[in-house]
Amino acid sequence: MTTPTYLGDTMQINRRSFLKLTGISLAALPFASSLFSPPPARAADLPMAKETDPMPKSLKYCSNAKKPTAHCADRKKKEKADQFCHNCQLFTKLDDKKGKCMLITGAAVAYDGWCNSWVKKPGT
Ligand code: SF4
Repeated sequence: MTTPTYLGDTMQINRRSFLKLTGISLAALPFASSLFSPPPARAADLPMAKETDPMPKSLKYCSNAKKPTAHCADRKKKEKADQFCHNCQLFTKLDDKKGKCMLITGAAVAYDGWCNSWVKKPGT
């Protein structure tokens, strides 16, 4: 271990000694910033996705598949009648009204929502 050099009352310390003394390695520096970042928002606090948001809009997402609007007219087809976010493989339930979708980040999707990327959840 390199010991700091003392010059009278002044302690001279180089960068390597500083890092050793503080326990910080150069490899850890990129991750050190995460210690000072605010924590990510809680999933339960996510805002609800809007049909007009860019990603939901591109997926023709509708927030209430029981009453599909013209925006998600495909959902009106008979063969899609049982398709909802809550039985989609890309859905993770947050509570009885909403969940997270792997395709729509930064917002929650409605439990009874739907989009044209629906994938049947195994076992449902
Ligand atoms: Fe809902 Fe699945 Fe579409 Fe995501 S991919 S919006 S969970 S139907």
